[in-house]
Amino acid sequence: MYERYWRQMGDKTTVVIPGWKFISYFSDKRNLCWFLEPEFGNAIIRLHKLVGNAVTDDRYIVVGTGSTQLFQAVLYAVSSPNASEPINVVSAAPFYSSYPLITDFLKSGLYKWAGDAHKFKKENKPCIELVTSPNNPDGSSRQSVVNQKQGILIHDLAYYWPQYTSISSSPADHDIMLFTVSKTTGHAGTRLGWALVKDQEIAKKMTDFIVLSTIGVSKESQLRAAKILQVLSDSHQNKGHFKESQPFFDHSYNLMAKRWKQLRGAVKTSKLFSLPEFPHGRCAFSGHTFASQPAFAWLKCEGETEDCESFLRDHNILTRSGKHFGDSAKYVRISVLPRDELFDQFIDRLAAINST
Ligand code: PMP
Repeated sequence: MYERYWRQMGDKTTVVIPGWKFISYFSDKRNLCWFLEPEFGNAIIRLHKLVGNAVTDDRYIVVGTGSTQLFQAVLYAVSSPNASEPINVVSAAPFYSSYPLITDFLKSGLYKWAGDAHKFKKENKPCIELVTSPNNPDGSSRQSVVNQKQGILIHDLAYYWPQYTSISSSPADHDIMLFTVSKTTGHAGTRLGWALVKDQEIAKKMTDFIVLSTIGVSKESQLRAAKILQVLSDSHQNKGHFKESQPFFDHSYNLMAKRWKQLRGAVKTSKLFSLPEFPHGRCAFSGHTFASQPAFAWLKCEGETEDCESFLRDHNILTRSGKHFGDSAKYVRISVLPRDELFDQFIDRLAAINST
């Protein structure tokens, strides 16, 4: 979805790196996270200050190969090495399907997946809770389910950007917050995420994890991402240089609004499907009052159909079943972010099911 915008930017985001540059492992030896390129760190801070979605003052920034690596680094960093049994990792269902897979992949002695946070709360045992807001797959805005005493909270704020949901008037101020370039600008293949971390020890242990797993993070990626984030911020703050194009978040917000309108239109006339409804909120960044328009549609097959994924497959629509997300097969997750042609084709096919 974002490709068209970045294509319009032409050479503004082109980065040229001569062969002799950026050879060393090190980026900034004085920084706790010594493989963070200062340019990338500065671009992150500038963007958060522009949008107002997260506090960056008095925080450590840890860069990772996607927030996927940071998720693993954070599990390592917050679990205690001497515990007699692995700590439980939970998230309210429906949750991001990679959480259980990543958590249990290496059968760690430090942590283990324990499923739905709502069910776990009653057990009153210590845990790590993943709070994803807005949530993947259902787009809901969330708060922790277990309390601070019971759980160590990790906030995955991958989708907390103004094209998807309204930004609150007070920036997010949690102990551990994860972000990713993938969902901010669309550059998923650049494989970069960042964590904003309050506690020095946790930031240090996350850094240790990344050193042991990959001895840092690609500098080329960081420089490219720095450039893209700078141009993003410039598109809002330096409008004179961008005569022909809209600021990035205005463009993306409008596109998401258009797609959700198309999607709700296709679903509305039917009694076959339903979509979640979201409350309206005033966005402190854009000033718009709007209901969330998430990156994924959490579509429910109403009526008799029990397996929504195979029902839609029969109509040439490929989706991911709700059962991967700790929920029922009556739900499926559908991406709202593909290229225009693909999205339009999906809407046409969905609407065609309605009318038959
Ligand atoms: N967290 C959530 C909630 C996600 O949806 C995704 C991507 N699907 C990620 C993390 C991983 O992002 P990255 O590309 O930075 O590894």
